[in-house]
Amino acid sequence: MTSRPSTDTAADQERLAEVQIAEIQRLQSLLPDLPTEALVKEDLLRIGISFSVEALRHCARFKSKSYFIFSFDMVPIESMNQEENLRAPEEIQLIDGPWNFRRTTVSVRVNPHSPWRIDLDGEELHLFCGVELISRIDLQDVPEYYKKPMQSGQPVHEVAPTIEWGYLIYLTVYRKCQYFGFKEECLFCDINENYRQQVAAGRPYRTVKPMEDVLDALSIINSVDDVSRAYTLTGGSITRKLRGKGEAEFYADYARTIEETFPGRWIPKAVTQALPVAEQRVLKEAGVQIFHPNYEIWDERLFSLICPGKESYVGRSEWHRRIIAAVDVFGAANVIPNFVAGIEMSRPHGYTDPEAAVESTREGLDFFMSQGVCPRFTVWCPEPLSPLVKEQAATGEAQPPAPLEYHARLLEAWRDCHQKHHLPVPPGYGPPGSGQAIFSVSSFMDVIRVP
Ligand code: SF4
Repeated sequence: MTSRPSTDTAADQERLAEVQIAEIQRLQSLLPDLPTEALVKEDLLRIGISFSVEALRHCARFKSKSYFIFSFDMVPIESMNQEENLRAPEEIQLIDGPWNFRRTTVSVRVNPHSPWRIDLDGEELHLFCGVELISRIDLQDVPEYYKKPMQSGQPVHEVAPTIEWGYLIYLTVYRKCQYFGFKEECLFCDINENYRQQVAAGRPYRTVKPMEDVLDALSIINSVDDVSRAYTLTGGSITRKLRGKGEAEFYADYARTIEETFPGRWIPKAVTQALPVAEQRVLKEAGVQIFHPNYEIWDERLFSLICPGKESYVGRSEWHRRIIAAVDVFGAANVIPNFVAGIEMSRPHGYTDPEAAVESTREGLDFFMSQGVCPRFTVWCPEPLSPLVKEQAATGEAQPPAPLEYHARLLEAWRDCHQKHHLPVPPGYGPPGSGQAIFSVSSFMDVIRVP
């Protein structure tokens, strides 16, 4: 079976597809221990997915992208000629096909120029790389709770969208970040710009989600759903006050109210800055179980360049010290800081050699994992409204994603380090292992070996 992109970039996509497949084959030989599914998943996350018109029409009947925090797309909405922002699925599952894939869950990042293409054949969706058929695609039905009305008139998916195939309720209760401008914003991040483009595109975004809306949405989910197992409270950093509260108290209020209303119903998680211990305790006492003080990148020089707000408000070594101090508050297994895999190779300051980039990141993994803390990562895709992409564009240069070899080596490094330090499977991410994992924005759960 073949699929031919209908745009005038077909020849370019064909060439790109040949390069991608050759690279996957090379990496299969270089790192034979990695599941091929994970290599393809990382590639879909780093360079995005294109859709045929027919595939998009079909996808629109299933669970769509909710834009739960960042854009996670490789083109802005204004360049989406097929209304991908309204029709593309939140996630896809790769299964079977000529490459005989185990079920693999992948978050969708729209890129109309990607050689990875989803097309429709009868009632079945397939993933192609150029003309090569790779696998069948399954989509998630629209969950019952997305169809139920909220009292405020807001749809449930704007207030409490779910990801990870319905496992995680993603509560971005503050839609912006107080790190502002090029001297503070993390350079890979488009939270503030995405807010603007989504509002301009007509989404009913609210800067701060009202508590009563959050409780109403959770009550609807609770009444009809038995798939969700965790929720994440998240949003931008609060460096001053928001609604009269500091960061810990702002996010703790939601956790406390949710836990009082639905005690123990979900695993409560929170993403914040690396807060001082006294403020970590405020979160813990409110009911937060898993703490994500994301450190974004390990390399010292690149941290200060790419995360200038984090450097100036807290500082890299203090950030790390507070992560380790959180072990006494939450327990080591429940401290899970994220980093953005690939920004070590961003231009103009990053590494140019994938092996050297992974060596730097491995040092950080070893530092944390040797103390019981298990970092996890999301795959960086250069979002066009993020400073890293805009600043390169202003000089006439592109900002390509990190090479697939970087991501493959990182998966191996993460798995080896996790094994070396005998750490448990990180809690709150669903099942581990290829064919089982549902964490969709990187493959760290897919590569954990299960008996
Ligand atoms: S702290 Fe950095 S990554 Fe997080 S929302 Fe603010 S700018 Fe974005």
